[in-house]
Amino acid sequence: MDYQLPEELRMLKETVRRFVDRELIPVENGSLDGPKLRADLQADLEEKAKAVGLWLYDVPTEYGGQGLGLLARAVVWAELARTVALPSRAAYVFGPNVSPILYFLNDEQKQRYLYPVLEGKLRHCFAQTEPDAGGDPGAMRTTAVRDGDHYVINGTKRFITGAGDAHFAQVFAATDREKGSRGGISAFLVDMDTPGVRLLRQQETMMHDRPWEIAFEDVRVPAENRIGEEGEGFGFAQNWITAGRIRHGARGIGVIERCLELGTSYAQQRVTFGRKLAERQAVQWMLVDSHADLHMLRLMVYDAAARHDAGEDVRYDSYIVKYFGDTKSFEAADRCMQIHGGLGLTTDLPIERMWRDQRSFIITEGPTEILKMALARHVLRQYGS
Ligand SMILES: Cc1cc2nc3c(=O)[nH]c(=O)nc-3n(C[C@H](O)[C@H](O)[C@H](O)COP(=O)(O)OP(=O)(O)OC[C@H]3O[C@@H](n4cnc5c(N)ncnc54)[C@H](O)[C@@H]3O)c2cc1C
Repeated sequence: MDYQLPEELRMLKETVRRFVDRELIPVENGSLDGPKLRADLQADLEEKAKAVGLWLYDVPTEYGGQGLGLLARAVVWAELARTVALPSRAAYVFGPNVSPILYFLNDEQKQRYLYPVLEGKLRHCFAQTEPDAGGDPGAMRTTAVRDGDHYVINGTKRFITGAGDAHFAQVFAATDREKGSRGGISAFLVDMDTPGVRLLRQQETMMHDRPWEIAFEDVRVPAENRIGEEGEGFGFAQNWITAGRIRHGARGIGVIERCLELGTSYAQQRVTFGRKLAERQAVQWMLVDSHADLHMLRLMVYDAAARHDAGEDVRYDSYIVKYFGDTKSFEAADRCMQIHGGLGLTTDLPIERMWRDQRSFIITEGPTEILKMALARHVLRQYGS
């Protein structure tokens, strides 16, 4: 059993850390323009990412990328999370945003959608959540009804990131509402300029994100735009969703590390009642709790990612990694804020941004309670009589 990262991943970690320390942390205060990275920074950072060899690190080799495994990607994600310079849900300075679902398209669909996305010519969004169904997507009301060689889609999607800039959406719709998530949901590629697709409004959130609400009114989509077979909407996304949960844990590693860096150095400088904060046990324990959480989280993330790379099914590990990572990194940001007093509440420091982002991740892409519900089934099966 070896808990050390292999040599090449230690080098990768160093490369990303240097990139974050030199290029991102110095610009993190003021790097965003609304929910997006400032256009001048975007171009500059893309060039720098290419120069240090990080371009397309997460794209498979057969599509021209570096094809890094999940452990390597987790190392990159953890390092990037030490800064708030990039939009937390759209950090695309290492290549375009490529939804992994697009790798499951058939050859003809890849020509029309995947390759243009990889070339930066088309942008897309992921449209699953609805006003009446978020954490429980099987209850979705958007329907796709077959009509000859087309489907007709009707419904409303909510909280769709990037919909305003997207050329097409991956839309999830019920083709059999009775079956729900057990074979009743199908996925479609829908061009955003198709008649009947309407952007309703952009929603403000407590983070920098501004997702969209979209209406689909009698939207006719050719049957050849269905992804996979009818009812397969969720199946092929499973592998990607597992990796996505591990990404949350990896992100938590970087957030806790940065909070420890900020919290310890402030505690060593700030004097109250004649003594440094670092000499007060109340403050020491806050730092120690974050340190212990970091250690546990790092072991969990590395273990789950390495076993995933070895071909194991780590779905249940990924539930734990997501809720543990999101919750513990939020707590670390909260402690760091407390140690900084009023300064922790200002936008001069990255703490309040980390605090808001990490709080939001406890809800999005799978709220903690729903992950625990799924995990409980597994625990009852494994240990029950
Ligand atoms: C900024 C932002 C960006 C987003 N981007 C996208 C996107 O691009 N595409 C997309 O499709 N979606 C997106 N979402 C949607 C997001 O993933 C959902 O908000 C999330 O999955 C939760 O769904 P919900 O809001 O409907 O909450 P619900 O499912 O209604 O749950 C509400 C709360 O109820 C509790 N709960 C739910 N079920 C249970 C249970 N079984 N047991 C106990 N408690 C329970 C949980 O505490 C949960 O937080 C985004 C959301 C935000 C805020």
